[in-house]
Amino acid sequence: MKLQNLVADRWIEGAGEGRPLRSAVDGNVVAEITSDGIDFAGMLEHARRVGGANLRALTFHERGEMLKALAKYLMEHKREFYELSTATGATKADSWIDIDGGISTLFVFSSKGRREMPNDTVYLDGPTEALSKNGTFVGQHVFTSKRGAAVHINAFNFPCWGMLEKLAPTLLAGVPAIVKPASSTAYLTELMVRRIVESEILPPGALQLVCGSVGNLFEHLDCQDTIAFTGSKGTAEMLQQHPRVVAQSVAFTAETDSLNASILGPDAVPGTPEFDLFVREVVREMTSKAGQKCTAIRRVIAPAAISADLVRALSTALGKIRIGNPASKDVDMGALASHGQQREVRERVGDLAREAELVYGGNESFDVVDADAGKGAFFMPTLLHCAKPLSSKAVHAVEAFGPVSTVLPYDTLDEAIELARLGEGSLAGSIITNDNAVARELVLGTAAWHGRMLILNRHCADESTGHGSPLPHLVHGGPGRAGGGEEMGGVRGVLHYMQRTALQGSPETLTAIGHRWVRGADERDPGVHPFRKTFEQLELGDTFRSTPRTVTAEDIANFAEFTGDTFYAHTDEPSAIKNPFFDGIVAHGYLIVSFAAGLFVDPDFGPVLANYGVDDLRFLTPVNVGDSLRVRLTCKQKTLRGDSGYGEVRWDTEVTNQNDEVVATYDVLTMVATDAHWASVQ
Ligand code: NAP
Repeated sequence: MKLQNLVADRWIEGAGEGRPLRSAVDGNVVAEITSDGIDFAGMLEHARRVGGANLRALTFHERGEMLKALAKYLMEHKREFYELSTATGATKADSWIDIDGGISTLFVFSSKGRREMPNDTVYLDGPTEALSKNGTFVGQHVFTSKRGAAVHINAFNFPCWGMLEKLAPTLLAGVPAIVKPASSTAYLTELMVRRIVESEILPPGALQLVCGSVGNLFEHLDCQDTIAFTGSKGTAEMLQQHPRVVAQSVAFTAETDSLNASILGPDAVPGTPEFDLFVREVVREMTSKAGQKCTAIRRVIAPAAISADLVRALSTALGKIRIGNPASKDVDMGALASHGQQREVRERVGDLAREAELVYGGNESFDVVDADAGKGAFFMPTLLHCAKPLSSKAVHAVEAFGPVSTVLPYDTLDEAIELARLGEGSLAGSIITNDNAVARELVLGTAAWHGRMLILNRHCADESTGHGSPLPHLVHGGPGRAGGGEEMGGVRGVLHYMQRTALQGSPETLTAIGHRWVRGADERDPGVHPFRKTFEQLELGDTFRSTPRTVTAEDIANFAEFTGDTFYAHTDEPSAIKNPFFDGIVAHGYLIVSFAAGLFVDPDFGPVLANYGVDDLRFLTPVNVGDSLRVRLTCKQKTLRGDSGYGEVRWDTEVTNQNDEVVATYDVLTMVATDAHWASVQ
């Protein structure tokens, strides 16, 4: 079967014979791959003209709904992905990370997009910046979708997750993708893309697929395109230096090699829960996906005093790992993804063994369950021990991308920190200790070399997601050798595919552009109390101004007694005067907020359904007995919640005193019924 390429929404076979792709388990040909003859310039053009336009017509929330629908669809079809995944050497547990892990990334981004981004196509970055004395000229950073294509070049180890973790933030950003999976496992990616296309959930042009070489694609990139690369540092460097990438300043994110370290704290001696957790974590990282995880633990940094115990414990645990046919229930670790990979890992172990002693594994022949050892790309878990890790080069530079780790002993925490840093930048690091002072010292000493760090102890172990699992909520990437890139991390990952622009202008103009009312913009008199208006009827700038209310000594005393908040500044005049901020008894901040609510609410049954919180509450001027308070409430931002029958409305709220001094500012958050819902309940 020749894999096909998805070009301008049509499946196209590459020219020529195609390179055979072999099963990692039995060596049989699974598929052939070639992208020869494809119109790469046409793909970019289609992405920009059709895919981008279609995606940008949707709001972040609509794109989030699209991701959710896609995730559900792929869930329904996951059985066939699991079946084919076996050919990549993956056990069921490995496939779960790749397939279910990938689909759950879609779910998380869907939810992030709908909860943390506006139901709009512009993303506002931070608050308005005051740039002028009178407030008629202000600044606002905004993100808008890049107008190009996102070219995703993925590694072979996660044919599903690798595609989906990049695709989810890209589509949410309103940018179309051209996906190029690594050849050796591209058949699984191609199958998933077929299902995605069949679902008809993505709009035309949103996704294209290259199975094989990217041909002359790079020649046609421009400044609106983005490249997100996962693979080896060497390939990343070469692609990053492509003349077109340099000339057009094409955004380039790289996730590359990583000599990830895990550090065992000095407190975690044999017999402690942390020692056992460490052994479990290292063995899991070495054997899950047969060690073919960019985040796997390659360097095991442990106190010299217990390193012999550690080597013994790790060897015992590794001895229990059953290697073989990943489809078999009796197998814990499958094969490497290809025979080429098997040769590569063997060579790299050879490099490491020049500076470290082989203490477990490394054998050419070993027992394999339910498979022919000669035909599959199996590799025995292999542990090395480097007696002088501070002077070794190989253990900090050679990445054997398989079930291979090296124990590096240390005498002091400074040495442990130095060893971790010698990796020259990693995706993930971990520290296993039950001493939080040690945890802080190690984190502060090494965090700048890491994209993500897990600090594991007995208290979080049961619910920990582990050293090697990138999560859609958290950033994935790392400095230096790890490529210097960053992906995911929730909304942060979406913004990589968007352009940040600093806007300067009048409050009214910036309100019109960002769909968020800016102080200083027009305040509209809606003619009725704004709480009488439905979600659709409300307009940004609709403003209510209250009558005044005077705060009495009795009010403050009653509030103190009623709530139990008898803090001296509200109850004890002589003490309150000694406070540098007050001239005597002052009103409680929450009394001011409560009075404000009493001043601005319209009490009758109406379209406002609930107040679900306040944001950015600040008390700016103390309120003394006799002060007179007023409130201004202005419709600031509207976010429709799908078909739920309501939308969220944010109100810019300002409480002032008789001298027009601002006493408190905050955003009141309400849910307001839509026309349809309001009509149905009257
Ligand atoms: P690789 O050779 O660099 O390949 C990575 C990707 O780049 C593949 O899709 C490959 O396609 C493509 N590629 C290679 N040459 C290219 C070129 N001239 N133009 C355009 N694309 C090109 O890496 P690998 O050896 O397969 O993967 C293992 C490495 O990836 C390990 O070092 C591992 O640490 C790293 N990795 C990193 C992460 C991470 O998240 N940081 C994740 C997984 C793996 P073909 O397959 O068609 O050559």
